[in-house]
Amino acid sequence: MKVLKFGGSSMASSKSIELIVNILKKEQKKQHIWVVVSASGKTTNNLIELMDLALAKDLNYKFLLQEIEQHHIKIAKDLITIDNQSSIIASMKQAVNELDDLLNSICCLGDLSLKTKDKIVSYGELLSSQLLQAILNQKLDSCILKDSKQLIKTDSNYTNAKVNFEKTIRLIQDFQQLNTARVTILGGFMSSNDHNDVTTLGRGGSDYTAAIYAAALNAICLEIWTDVNGLYTANPQIVPQANPICNISYEEAMELSHFGAKVIYPPTIQPVLNKSIPIRIKNTFNAEAIGTLISNEINNQKQTVKGISHIDHISLMTIEGAGMIGIHGTSKHLFEVLGNNQINVILITQASSEHSICIAIADSEAEKALAVINQEFRYEIKDGLIKPVNLEDNLAIIAVVGDNMKSHQGISGTLFNAMGRNNINIRAIAQGASERNISVVINETDVQKALNSIHSAFFESHIKDLNVFIAGVGNVGGILLEQIQKQQSYLKEELHINLKVLGLANSKNYLINEDGIDLNNWKENLNKSKQSNHLFNKEILGLNKRNCVFVDVTANEKVANSYADFLRNSISVVACNKIACSSNYSNYQELKYLAKKYKASFLYETNVGAGLPIINTLQNLISSGDQITEIQAVLSGSLNFIFNHYSKDNLFKNIVKQAQDEGYTEPDPRIDLSGIDVARKILILVREAGIELEINDINNDSFLPSGSMEAKSVNDFYKLIKSNESQFKNVLEKAEKAQSKLKYVATYKNGKANVGLQFIPKDHPFYNLEGKDNIVSFYTKRYVDQPLIIKGAGAGASVTASGLFADIIQVGNLN
Ligand code: ADP
Ligand code: ASP
Ligand code: MG
Repeated sequence: MKVLKFGGSSMASSKSIELIVNILKKEQKKQHIWVVVSASGKTTNNLIELMDLALAKDLNYKFLLQEIEQHHIKIAKDLITIDNQSSIIASMKQAVNELDDLLNSICCLGDLSLKTKDKIVSYGELLSSQLLQAILNQKLDSCILKDSKQLIKTDSNYTNAKVNFEKTIRLIQDFQQLNTARVTILGGFMSSNDHNDVTTLGRGGSDYTAAIYAAALNAICLEIWTDVNGLYTANPQIVPQANPICNISYEEAMELSHFGAKVIYPPTIQPVLNKSIPIRIKNTFNAEAIGTLISNEINNQKQTVKGISHIDHISLMTIEGAGMIGIHGTSKHLFEVLGNNQINVILITQASSEHSICIAIADSEAEKALAVINQEFRYEIKDGLIKPVNLEDNLAIIAVVGDNMKSHQGISGTLFNAMGRNNINIRAIAQGASERNISVVINETDVQKALNSIHSAFFESHIKDLNVFIAGVGNVGGILLEQIQKQQSYLKEELHINLKVLGLANSKNYLINEDGIDLNNWKENLNKSKQSNHLFNKEILGLNKRNCVFVDVTANEKVANSYADFLRNSISVVACNKIACSSNYSNYQELKYLAKKYKASFLYETNVGAGLPIINTLQNLISSGDQITEIQAVLSGSLNFIFNHYSKDNLFKNIVKQAQDEGYTEPDPRIDLSGIDVARKILILVREAGIELEINDINNDSFLPSGSMEAKSVNDFYKLIKSNESQFKNVLEKAEKAQSKLKYVATYKNGKANVGLQFIPKDHPFYNLEGKDNIVSFYTKRYVDQPLIIKGAGAGASVTASGLFADIIQVGNLN
């Protein structure tokens, strides 16, 4: 004999009920079965809403009642032949009439007792069980309906009644002795007290009903049929990477369900555990899937953490005071008063100093708890022995569960590390003496991030998510997206990084997709998007995702000013925008400090020399104890391009325009030509070398005609340099006469940094610097005579994009 329970989602529609019929047709061939059903779909919630409407004298309840009626009649009409429909429709209509009468009286009296509530919600299971029996009756010979209210006896604690097991088991067994039916259908959830008034077993209680029947009948197995493939390593609706657990012990399942894994109602396990009856959780919509077996079977010793669950809407109360230290009975007193007021304590922590006790309870009970505790301890509070109770709400508990956790070290380390790295603040921690459960209290807004981070740490060590947001999708940004798209599958397979672009912004709009933006048509979707880009940052922070990188591919100051906010939320920042690192020294330092504090990365290799490994090399020199004594560098690929191409047959203006068109300059070429860009780069290098310097400390010999920077637009600037062509030709002639080339050089020595145009003679290593190349020579304590030289393409969209990409991957590897 077997007991099968079908939940609300399985009973929700004609289609799903057809699936149930198929499952039952097969099962009843093998053995006698008892089938317990929940109310169809959202019926229980609708019945509760009906009562609230009627109590508020809102006559809309009539429409909602009609909806409930229509919903059930439609299923009957879909699945029952016309000649068999009348009796089931009549009995359902009668039930609806009874409901109407009850609701009418609630509406007239303006009164609703818990007793009436139970009576009304029980109609959900009454209707669904009648319906299923009528449907099956046409297909099976031996299928009866039995009313659970006649079998399950409880006390009178309405809405959450306690089962009288002795009576209940006797009634079930007596009934079964005379029951010859192959299939017995029963509604779950509902029961009755000694006066035969309707009671219910608590929300989700149909699982419990089924477990009571399984225990009383010594069933070979209890099957809970639902809408997921079993008990998952975490709620699959919140953690998409979660997997069904094959085998789990009763105790582990109990902990997980108690801490929020709704797929099984917590009290369900006790009755079957006592008789060692296995529970199998199965998916009605995918009957082939193996599901989860909850039993006494020896667990896989290697699997330490079995699952993670959470409870929302938690309040934390802290009772503290010097008067509690070493005084007997404070805790007893506290828990007694909570118990006497039916306040359920979910978690307790007490520091060994006994100076404070922290308890977690449901938000809905917080006010009552606060009042009764303050009242109970009023004298101690008055005498200053205990402080008035401190209450924090909108919290959640996350529980990490596994039988084998006790024999393994490092579980808490992994847990706290995963949370710390993602900037999730832990408000309280509790570990049960059985060490089967470690629970932490966090802010409710962090739940999704916490569950995903912890899940990834324990179950997905092989693949890490990396969520990328990109501001600026012009030339460089566009190529970066192409590179990402090409490499996505390689990164996943070879580096085990699941890189997803969740957000994009240009100067007008932004686009966000939590599941990852389709990189095949990001341009159209971004242009179509109506979301104005000033909300981009707010939305990124609001998403509160773990393992995030914000990539700044703009040259915008406002964007640079937002890094601190990202870092404070443990969102790494990768930037080719140089503004932040070349702003005030204190700001640059603060960003580095924030990155360290919030365990995020702040990477800006592309600030100097595009994709060339200049900053990285410098940082490695410094961290290995070397000291920079001198830097000489050609750091502007754009200026190098311009001076390499400028000749007596060309106009300076045309070469600048060509450099701009080919993407070698900043959007405003004056940033390059004025030397500001080079000054910023040498400043960043000097700072990386550990020297405090400001941009104004750098001597900049600009070669631009006066008025250039004041020109209103880039076009005006072009006009100005055109009219000053002779000035540029002059400089060029002088260089040629000296058999030198013009190079824009940045230097640092003895605490002084300079940038400016220099005549570079033939024998100088910079003389042959081609095209848009960069070169940097570092003289250090170790590299005294021969400098350490880094040389290569230092400008261009594609090398800059690949430099950014390398930084992004570095974040992924560090996470
Ligand atoms: P039923 O209507 O069948 O009783 P429930 O809605 O009560 O179903 O429970 C199934 C739901 O439980 C799933 O759809 C899922 O959203 C939720 N759930 C929460 N935690 C877990 C978990 N760890 N494993 C599986 N499901 C979970
Ligand atoms: N119908 C009840 C509820 O929604 C019981 C159940 O579905 O288990 O809570
Ligand atoms: Mg359920």
